[in-house]
Amino acid sequence: MKELKVYNPATNEVVKTIQYTSEEEANQQINKAQVAFESWRERDAHDRSALLLKWYQLIEEHKEELAELITLENGKPYKEALGEVAYANSYIQWYQEEAKRIYGKTIPANQKGKKIITDPFPVGIVGAITPWNFPAAMIARKMAPALAAGCTIVCKPALETPLTTIRMVELAHEAGIPEDAIQYVVLSGRDAGRIFTESPIIQKITFTGSTPVGKQLIKSSADSVKNVTMELGGLAPVIVHKDADIELAVNQTIATKFRNSGQTCISANRIFVHKDIEQDYTALLTEKVNALNVGNGIEKDTDMGPLINQQAVEKVIDQIEDAVEHGGELSLSIEQLKLGGNFLKPVVIRHANLEMKVMHEETFGPIAAVMTYDDLDEILKVANDTEYGLAAYFFTNDYRTGFDIYKKLDYGVIGWNDGAPSAAHAPFGGYKESGYGREGGIEGIEPYLETKYLSIGNM
Ligand code: NAP
Repeated sequence: MKELKVYNPATNEVVKTIQYTSEEEANQQINKAQVAFESWRERDAHDRSALLLKWYQLIEEHKEELAELITLENGKPYKEALGEVAYANSYIQWYQEEAKRIYGKTIPANQKGKKIITDPFPVGIVGAITPWNFPAAMIARKMAPALAAGCTIVCKPALETPLTTIRMVELAHEAGIPEDAIQYVVLSGRDAGRIFTESPIIQKITFTGSTPVGKQLIKSSADSVKNVTMELGGLAPVIVHKDADIELAVNQTIATKFRNSGQTCISANRIFVHKDIEQDYTALLTEKVNALNVGNGIEKDTDMGPLINQQAVEKVIDQIEDAVEHGGELSLSIEQLKLGGNFLKPVVIRHANLEMKVMHEETFGPIAAVMTYDDLDEILKVANDTEYGLAAYFFTNDYRTGFDIYKKLDYGVIGWNDGAPSAAHAPFGGYKESGYGREGGIEGIEPYLETKYLSIGNM
């Protein structure tokens, strides 16, 4: 049986060795999910809700254990990992409640004696694929609404971080959710993508990850017209207007930029600051960024952990070198920011411009590139000039300017004076090549439901 070693990105030591799932086993699991679907969909919504509540409570009881697992396999600081468990669990809590609020409606008919009603039904068996950057949250955002809607689900976590998912699924079983209703497979993305999309049983693919992989999955889902939800990459702009509260803008930029070492899909990628305040903003940003303590996430005083692997380190260094070649000024020299292993010190780049890779490519690392602007309308066009449309941020204290920017930004998630907009009760998702479908909020259960309507005559 093939083995998978899960490494700690802080030490490069093996955290645990687990078994891969074979293709035959994966197909058997999908068959079992189909059988489980028949009874899970028939359970009444209050019953499903009660089981999800029990699961939520067990995760709360095991939050320290889960947070430690996240830190060990992903590298993020323990306090951030604990925050991720709470955030992941808030989706389970939200959809535990939403399970009871899946409503149909009555549509006025155009003939006497006729009645039209609609009802949402579960879409079927779900195949879920998730990335390593939020090992608990990305999967909770899929498992909770799928189960609440009456679907059964087979999850494929990233091979860097499968341990958190495995533990969450075990806790779901302990809570009483049937074992075949929620399962995991340990497969490479390529294999899971092929098995899920070729399966005649799986009705829905829900994916969080990079845009190129999302496009492949959309293409291979087309043959059997599977229902798909795509949460893909981002290139978030931050606009700091001249009337912004500079300290607030700096603190919130740090929150969005350096969480998880900058490895989030909604991390600030391009920071546009009005020329009148650029000097003050950058000075304060640099001071605070220099104070961030980089180290092993398991240590209590760590603010920022390592990157996930060497490939990620190399990509970030490449973007920094490219920025320097194009006139960027670094807050630390390249030699100073390399700390060895997968660790990098966070860096601020002044005099950023549109020639730089960092202004066009998703960074997934601790670089804050700051470019100045003069005209707000011009910079809004620059902010929108990308194939991505996931998250965007802006800072202004003027409400007219604020609503105008909100209206003009072509992004799905927007933070106004807010660097942490994501919440279980709000619909998260992107425009353009950042994907389609929403996770969170009342909208987040819709991808797991099909609407049926019934027309009754002769009443
Ligand atoms: P990735 O390479 O796309 O991997 C994500 C998942 O897809 C992993 O489980 C991976 O499996 C799997 N995968 C890889 N190739 C596949 C294929 N051919 N078919 C099916 N699945 C495949 O992305 P990543 O680099 O790990 O994650 C970072 C990306 O995710 C960034 O672009 C980020 O913006 C995006 N993201 C988006 C959101 C959102 O909500 N919009 C949230 C978080 C992250 P392996 O284990 O084999 O690699």
